[in-house]
Amino acid sequence: MAKNVYQFVDVERIDPPKKPISDRKAGFAEIYHPLTNSQAEGQADRCLDCGNPYCEWKCPVHNYIPQWLALANEGKFIEAAELSHKTNSLPEVCGRVCPQDRLCEGDCTLNDDFGAVTIGSIEKHITDTAFKMGWRPDMSGVTWTDKKVAIIGAGPAGLACADVLVRNGVKPVVYDKYEEIGGLLTFGIPSFKLEKDVIKLRREIFTEMGIEFVLNTEVGKDLDFQEVVDQYDAVFLGMGTYKSMKGGFDNEGAKGVYEALPFLISNTNRVMGLEKDAADFIDMKGKKVVVLGGGDTTMDCVRTSIRQNATSVTCAYRRDEQSMPGSRREVVNAREEGVEFEFNVQPLDIAVDETGKAVGVKLVRTEMGEPDAAGRRRPVVVEDSEFVLEADAVIIAFGFQPSPAPWFADYGIILDEKGRVRAPAKGKFAYQTSNPKIFAGGDMVRGSDLVVTAIDEGRKAADGILDYMGV
Ligand code: FAD
Ligand code: SF4
Repeated sequence: MAKNVYQFVDVERIDPPKKPISDRKAGFAEIYHPLTNSQAEGQADRCLDCGNPYCEWKCPVHNYIPQWLALANEGKFIEAAELSHKTNSLPEVCGRVCPQDRLCEGDCTLNDDFGAVTIGSIEKHITDTAFKMGWRPDMSGVTWTDKKVAIIGAGPAGLACADVLVRNGVKPVVYDKYEEIGGLLTFGIPSFKLEKDVIKLRREIFTEMGIEFVLNTEVGKDLDFQEVVDQYDAVFLGMGTYKSMKGGFDNEGAKGVYEALPFLISNTNRVMGLEKDAADFIDMKGKKVVVLGGGDTTMDCVRTSIRQNATSVTCAYRRDEQSMPGSRREVVNAREEGVEFEFNVQPLDIAVDETGKAVGVKLVRTEMGEPDAAGRRRPVVVEDSEFVLEADAVIIAFGFQPSPAPWFADYGIILDEKGRVRAPAKGKFAYQTSNPKIFAGGDMVRGSDLVVTAIDEGRKAADGILDYMGV
């Protein structure tokens, strides 16, 4: 029987149901119930199968979205997983954390009048279901070579690079300074967005495929980079960006002021049972918390503070709500969980008491002005509008700048003016640095961005490495 292409008229978009707010706030589990198979099949059927699928163009890894939606619609989850892994190394992660409203779903033809196809949730459902059914990537056709590549960093860029290399018969050995793989997937993004068992399962699967992990090993400190360069046919750097951006205002270093990442990592360490010393835990229980910033990291900090039983949590952002750079979905979730928002406010300094401890943030109101060079409207300060927002703890979540290793220069790895490693996508070999044997990708090359763009660069860099090695 021919497909009913008007299915989207009769079947409404549904998102996976969320758990009750009280359950969400009581712990760090993911907040969505999984779709049932029949819900996933029905939602997949809403796809129009456009001749020129905009969703696929907008997806940074150009997933074959209409094709795997069609397979999901037929209940063929294993075939769908097989297909989705042809373009994406971590589809179950992207389905959970991609800002779909700005990417695939944002460009779905059904978007304005009928509600986009729930592409992200179905992508997650396909992989989760296939794994539960026992599916694993088929490595039986791989012809092994004698080549081996070192990968520094087990974040999404490094993992994606390793995935493509191993499927081409090259042995990847992935080094990371942390004790678990995932990079910011594990030690950044909180478990209410991405449960850590998802990454543990991936580690098992990647290990079965032939990827070797050497963890708790910081290259440049525990292991000399020269040893790495000598032992391998090529090296991929996927080391991320870790320098927290500062506000540049007074008392930023006061007691009670925290940077976003150490706060999130201390919480994750406790959730994962990795905490070494209870004194390392940054606790917001019983505190009035103000988080400065407006991106995904900010939403993660406010929602973590809520779960730690803060008395109140306020996000203070210098532009308006429409200009927030993060995912709309996470702003909605934060609001539902009790986070308050102060838009169009800019911090002037941290108010402190006589002991030097933070007691509030001095803010000034702003209004939206003319667009800047990047097209974003600038916040313009409103005169005489200063006020103090009370706080027992202030978290600064202004994003991250590149943090290149000091030893890069010794190996002729050139940086751009912002400190990002120069590794052009369209060089002789994709993502090759100025040292021919060394490739790089992810946040350290493009600047702090997204999981899916890091995956994309890791995969393309692997193609560059294969070309370079003549495999
Ligand atoms: P990373 O994930 O940073 O991984 C780099 C790895 O390199 C780390 O494991 C690190 O330990 C290791 N490393 C560094 N130096 C060394 C060394 N010398 N030796 C050994 N190992 C080393 N993106 C989204 O798409 N959706 C989200 O919801 C989202 N939320 C985010 C929330 C937070 C709090 C943060 C900080 C980021 C978020 N992002 C999100 C962005 C996303 O996580 C990053 O863009 C992505 O992880 C970058 O991948 P990467 O592989 O380049 O680097
Ligand atoms: Fe959408 Fe991200 Fe999946 Fe691409 S990888 S289809 S952008 S959720």
